[in-house]
Order: sequence, then structure tokens, then C-alpha cells
Amino acid sequence: MRNRLIIVGAGPAGLSLARALRRSGAEITLVERQSRAALADPLPDGREIALTQASVRHLRDMGVWSLIPPDEVHPLREARVLDGGSPFTLAISSPKRRGADLGVLVSNHLIRRALFASVEAQDGITLLCGREVREARADSDGVSVTLDDGTRLEGDLLVAADSRFSSTRSALGMGAEMIPVGKSMLVCRVRHDKPHAGIATEWFDYKRTVAMLPLAPGMSSLVLTLPHDQAQGLAALPLAELGPQFAALTRDRWGTMEAVGPVVAYPLTMTFAHRFCSPRAALIGDAAVGMHPVTAHGFNLGLAGAMRLARLLQGARDIGETRLLRRFALAHRAATRPLYLATLALVRLYTDDRPGAHALRKAMLHTGALAPVRHALGAMLADRKFARPMCARG
Ligand SMILES: Cc1cc2nc3c(=O)[nH]c(=O)nc-3n(C[C@H](O)[C@H](O)[C@H](O)COP(=O)(O)OP(=O)(O)OC[C@H]3O[C@@H](n4cnc5c(N)ncnc54)[C@H](O)[C@@H]3O)c2cc1C
Repeated sequence: MRNRLIIVGAGPAGLSLARALRRSGAEITLVERQSRAALADPLPDGREIALTQASVRHLRDMGVWSLIPPDEVHPLREARVLDGGSPFTLAISSPKRRGADLGVLVSNHLIRRALFASVEAQDGITLLCGREVREARADSDGVSVTLDDGTRLEGDLLVAADSRFSSTRSALGMGAEMIPVGKSMLVCRVRHDKPHAGIATEWFDYKRTVAMLPLAPGMSSLVLTLPHDQAQGLAALPLAELGPQFAALTRDRWGTMEAVGPVVAYPLTMTFAHRFCSPRAALIGDAAVGMHPVTAHGFNLGLAGAMRLARLLQGARDIGETRLLRRFALAHRAATRPLYLATLALVRLYTDDRPGAHALRKAMLHTGALAPVRHALGAMLADRKFARPMCARG
């Protein structure tokens, strides 16, 4: 029996895989550079994660969902896409039935806290926190990693879940396409006057993109995509000064605003690994597919990948068997590549500030050329094949 698994990275993807394998009999070692205290009680990082119905089901099945406070779960009833000052609205709603939610919004730190609590309590797992993987090797004989304190670990399968800039992926010779988007995403919780009605708004405005994600009544997560220096400049301002600035940037669409924080600016780079497996090694989470947050699917795809790999490894006599890893890689690529490419096309279209790009966007929105993206998004969020088309004038 060859069942020793080493996972590098206890982010949402690495933790999900460890949890999904709780009954597999695998002997799991999870290595993470952050401290145990930081993992057990992560600080809010401003990310509000739109979870699909499928993700909620996976988290429920793994006993993780019950560890997230119910009053911190916010329904996402509908998403609307606006273009500049145009009254035209492209709406994405659940294809299931009128009134059904598209998904839910949960803060990233609460998902991470719940995942860590569940993994920490499970048998057969060794957590090495505050330790960084410095070297990694995997071939048909076995795998080994060397940590920053010189400890050497050996195993039968190595899984890299160490972010979109994964050094383990590089050490294993699995490169990735890397596309810097040239913009940063600034996130901040805000209180506002006008109700959000559970509707997420994605507003492609001149030289910036504004998203409002509905949380508690009168509270949303404001997400601004801006040039790096502008995002850094705003992030450095005191919270009290930000509210009026945000209200002006959103042209008072949600009334007056008060910034609650935290304010975090994320520089954006999209990544897609050239391969998802090599002998006795696999990539999951952002290390495999680093999405742009605009389509809200990074963690959803990471969780789906972890579940996919865990299903294949259940009961395997050799968890590093090439046939299993290839099946995982093929299936995960097929499940992620179309949405990745659609997201990239959308990002290119909406970050293009050249003259003519705006007219093209308008035309695409009005002629329904974005319908495939809209349908795919609605269906993926609500866990169905096709979304119900719906356009409105706001
Ligand atoms: C603003 C924003 C909004 C988002 N919104 C959504 C959304 O609505 N829906 C959605 O599905 N996704 C969303 N995402 C994406 C989601 O947050 C990521 O896809 C997800 O966090 C990736 O998880 P991961 O575990 O793969 O990687 P990470 O979260 O990057 O974790 C990697 C872990 O590996 C550790 N590590 C790295 N190198 C080493 C090493 N050498 N040794 C040991 N440990 C190491 C790190 O410390 C870290 O803990 C959003 C992202 C952003 C930035």
C-alpha cells in the first residue's frame, strides 16, 4: 500500500483536499508557511467569496458548512452587468426557477477558518505550520520535500496547493501561462443608503470596473478594478475619507457610503498551468488555475478540483499511480479551461481603454454577444447547464 500524501499549502484548496480525504486512509502531511494561530483564526482579507450551490453542497458534505455562522451567509439572488452610463442592463439569474438564489456570499476568512477547524480535528493528518517548502522532487519512485528548517519528508504523492505563484509547481517542472492584467482589485466593505435587494452589480465604467456584492441589509462589498497606483493610493487613505470617494466613484448609485474596511488592494495576474500532473505529483487550486475574480470562480474551481482528485484517490492501492493522476488532469482541464478563456476574453475587453473598445463593448452587450458568458456564469453559479436569458432596462 502506497498512501503517503504531502500537500504543500493550507489555503482553501489544500485544506479542502485534506478534508475530502478524511476517510481515505491516506497518511497526510500538510505543510504551510503561515503559523497555526494565523490559520486557526485568519484575519478578514476583504474577499467575499461567491459560492456556487455545488460548492455549498461539497462544504456541507465535508461537515465544514455547519462551522460557518449562518448570519454570515448572504444570498446572491441575481447579478446585473451595467455598461458606463447606459441604461441597458444584462441580468444573470438562476436557471432553476424564478426566485431561486444564484449562490451565496461568504467572507474568505470564515471559509478558511471553518476548513482549518475541520481538518485540525481529523485523524491521520500531520500539520506542519510555520514551515516553508524549499525544495521539492517527484518521480516514478517517490516524492520528497525539504523544509526551511532542513527537515526532509518522503511520500508517494505530492500535491501543490501553494498559490498561483506556486514555487512547488516550478520545482516540479510544470510551468504556467501567466497573464498580468495590469490592474489591481481594491476591496472594502461599505455601508450604503440605498438597498441592494440581494443583487450583485458589475459595472464596467470608463477606465474602471465597479462591483457591489450584497451582504447584510445596507452593507455590500465594494470591489474596484483600477490602475495599480490609483488602487494603492486609495488603500492608503484613512477609512473616514474613503466613503465620500467611493460614493463619488459610483456616482451615488447606492447613495452615501461609509467605508467599514478592511481595505485591501490585490494586483491581478491570471495563471493556467501547462500541465496539472507529472509523475507522482498534481496541482490543485490556484496553483492549477489562477482565475480573475471578475467571474468569481477561483475557489469554486479549486474546491471542485480537490473533490475530483479526492474521489479518484479514495481506496487506491497507490495514490501516486500515473493513471489516476492523468484522469484527474484531463477532467480538471476540461472543467476549467472554457471558463478561464471566457474570463480572459471578458477581462481583455473590459480593461481595454483604447478608443473604439467602449463602442465594441456596448455593441456586444446589446447584441447579446456576451450571452454565452452570461449563460455559463448563471448556470455554473446555480449548478445547471443553461441559464435563463433575461435582459432589462434599468
Ligand atoms: C479580491 C478577490 C476576490 C475573490 N472572489 C472570489 C469569489 O467570489 N469566488 C471564488 O470562487 N473565488 C474568489 N477568489 C479566488 C479565491 O480567493 C482563490 O482562488 C483561493 O483563495 C485560492 O486558494 P488556494 O488554496 O489555491 O491558494 P491560496 O489561498 O493562495 O493559498 C496558498 C497557501 O500556500 C501557502 N504557501 C505558499 N507557498 C508555500 C511554501 N513554499 N511552503 C508552504 N506553504 C506555502 C500560502 O501561505 C497559502 O496559505 C477571489 C480572489 C480575490 C483576490
